[in-house]
Amino acid sequence: MSFSSFSLHANLLKAISNMGFEHPTPIQRLAIAPLLEGRDVMASAVTGSGKTAAFLLPVLHRLIEKPRGTTRALILAPTRELAAQITEHLHDLAAHTPLKGAAVYGGVSMAPQESAFRKGVDVLIATPGRLLDHLQYPYARLGGIEHLILDEADRMLDMGFLPDIRRILQRVPKQRQTLLFSATLPAPIVELAGEMLQNPVSLNVERKAAPATGITHVAYPVPHELKSTLFLELVRTSASKHVLAFTRTKHRADRLAGFLEKHGVTCTRIHGNRSQAQRTEALASFKRGRCRVLVATDIAARGIDVEALGLVVNFDVPPLPEDYIHRVGRTGRKQATGDAYTLVSPHEEDSLRAIERGIGARLPRQKVQGFNYATAPTERFEVPIAERITAIRARKAEERVRAKANAARRATQGITAGPAGNGTAGQRTRSYRPAGPSRWAGKPVTGQSFRRPVAARSNGKSV
Ligand code: AMP
Repeated sequence: MSFSSFSLHANLLKAISNMGFEHPTPIQRLAIAPLLEGRDVMASAVTGSGKTAAFLLPVLHRLIEKPRGTTRALILAPTRELAAQITEHLHDLAAHTPLKGAAVYGGVSMAPQESAFRKGVDVLIATPGRLLDHLQYPYARLGGIEHLILDEADRMLDMGFLPDIRRILQRVPKQRQTLLFSATLPAPIVELAGEMLQNPVSLNVERKAAPATGITHVAYPVPHELKSTLFLELVRTSASKHVLAFTRTKHRADRLAGFLEKHGVTCTRIHGNRSQAQRTEALASFKRGRCRVLVATDIAARGIDVEALGLVVNFDVPPLPEDYIHRVGRTGRKQATGDAYTLVSPHEEDSLRAIERGIGARLPRQKVQGFNYATAPTERFEVPIAERITAIRARKAEERVRAKANAARRATQGITAGPAGNGTAGQRTRSYRPAGPSRWAGKPVTGQSFRRPVAARSNGKSV
């Protein structure tokens, strides 16, 4: 089967061919035709299956002949990285059409996003939290939406976005085409689909959640404290140009990155404590080959799409089978091959067995030849949280003493202190003043404060 068997616009077929897509993937084969007919679709498709083009192509086809200037398609994604990834994919697929897409996510300025709303960019790709931030202002209108797509819906629910999704649904027309893509279809997703979709076509490309084919999976049992040295050994002996490593926490990601750098391995990291600019830069330098290893935590790593990613390492065993599938789905893409290694300490064996049950396969256990499993670690990898808190408190106490001494010195020298700087006292507030008529400039239309508390936007998970 070829793409030309769908009645897709010639300019989309041209882009598909330029991108080197020869045949539709299974999800594309199943989803494109009903989507072109305007049907609602609920699809279970894992990352790496070609799901993004499966929903973008029919939507772009249906928008091509429409007049410009109205946002007609809204794609909701759980993370900034995924939203950026979809936007990039859209840009490539729409290269020979006048259609434009814009990403709307947090951590970057709201002004260009406001401008995209005002221009009525054809497709908006948004994370729920930042979209709701915009929806407080009159320029953010979703009344023209004809296509609503929820991508990685299971992850959005895991991240506590369900209330946000419900609020967004109230702002889009009821008469629309709705698509729900999810790696897994647990009960809450099916329930949400029941509320959102009208007479949907259900597509289960992979009935049992399973990692993409073409990946060689290996588990390396290792004492917890030797993980970093074993990892270094695996990186040194791997032929893969790009290595993506996942850690359980932000602290462990920082520690692993520091350890690798100390041992001469070029490395960068992305996680929830890093600014959007830092994350974008990290991903760009990894993609350009300036760093061999990218260390990431789960949520931040969604949407990482790097050509020829030969090796993914679970430095820590992921908590759920779905996370395992998503992590290792970063290699072996486009029917290519890749390796997925999982370092397993004795207390992680149970989690690994749960993953094996989830994916319906046992991972072969292997030992690295020549690696000394009996050696004592030369340094401590992880600093326990209590110790880190004590160190932070000590540093802050020291800063306070120093500030007091400075203030006393300035007082004796007759220097008056200036106004307190940003965030030195009280709560720091961020405000956004949208462009446009002063009638409402800067005032959220709902009258509520501009920034909703983080807890209201997610379940507080920060990785
Ligand atoms: P996705 O599952 O949408 O994240 O896509 C995974 C990767 O597969 C992306 O790098 C796409 O560019 C690529 N891809 C999507 N469709 C095809 C296709 N029909 N043939 C080859 N590669 C594809």
